[in-house]
Amino acid sequence: MMNTKRIEQSVAAFCSQAAANTLDLPTHEPAWGGPIVGVAAGDDPYFQRFKEDIGPFYWTPLEVFCQAYPQHSCRADELRVISYVLPQTAATRTDQRHATALPAERWVRSRYFGELFNEALRDHLVKFLVQSGYPAVAPARQPGFAYRQSPRFGIASNWSERHTAFVAGLGTFGLSDGLITPLGKAVRLGSVVTALQLPLSPRPYGDDPHAYCLHHAKGSCRACAGRCPAQVIGLNGHDKDGCAAYIRNVTAPHSRETYGIDATPCGLCQVKIPCEAGIPAALQKAFSGRSGAKKS
Ligand code: SF4
Ligand code: SF4
Repeated sequence: MMNTKRIEQSVAAFCSQAAANTLDLPTHEPAWGGPIVGVAAGDDPYFQRFKEDIGPFYWTPLEVFCQAYPQHSCRADELRVISYVLPQTAATRTDQRHATALPAERWVRSRYFGELFNEALRDHLVKFLVQSGYPAVAPARQPGFAYRQSPRFGIASNWSERHTAFVAGLGTFGLSDGLITPLGKAVRLGSVVTALQLPLSPRPYGDDPHAYCLHHAKGSCRACAGRCPAQVIGLNGHDKDGCAAYIRNVTAPHSRETYGIDATPCGLCQVKIPCEAGIPAALQKAFSGRSGAKKS
């Protein structure tokens, strides 16, 4: 019998045992620490709202499921979206805290080797579900997964792991647009859509997309803005184009020239901040014991 516990165990075991979870250093240390998992409804109204906000190219869970299983007749409410959070290790976060203009080597390696692992984890979870009898697809592993120009939001992918994790109860957006999760903002995310009825994860923050951010909740902090060498985080949020330009012109060339790694790392705004490794302490009390608004 498949259930959320078994899925969590499978994801956690893959993280702790797979050789692919590596920074590819002589220390053989992993790219990621222990994950957490959340579950969203395939017909959660948020998915349709994202499509309306971001653009028609944005996929709903049903659309991406039908791409992978065109013969499988299915309704959106029969689908679940399993989302997971992979936290940076303490060693990577410590190194990155000392960095000011260019990302630390461990962070660069996590962006490349860690994302390779994330792809392997998506594939692993799909295989685990399919072999257990439940059709599944990882949107970010679909051939059509790509970036497009959103009329309202600039460059955007047709599936957002951050927005999906928000719906699955795993976190809210910070001033810098990163997702603040119970494991912090120094994380990577992934997700899989499957035809399997699982209980929905609660959203402890209800419908507040910024509940875990001190700037939005209390008008304070903005530490992430102070960490950004490109100065592209302001009172109204994060300038995506300015961020992308800094990565394209500064950190990606640095990664290639210094480490021989063809990646797009930065993430200086993800450490040395109150939400680096968890929900900010000043806000945790407000959410302790709150099971959230969503129920199965
Ligand atoms: S560092 Fe502060 S302002 Fe920036 S996202 Fe985290 S809590 Fe919000
Ligand atoms: S990723 Fe880098 S450039 Fe982009 S907002 Fe964060 S610190 Fe600034």
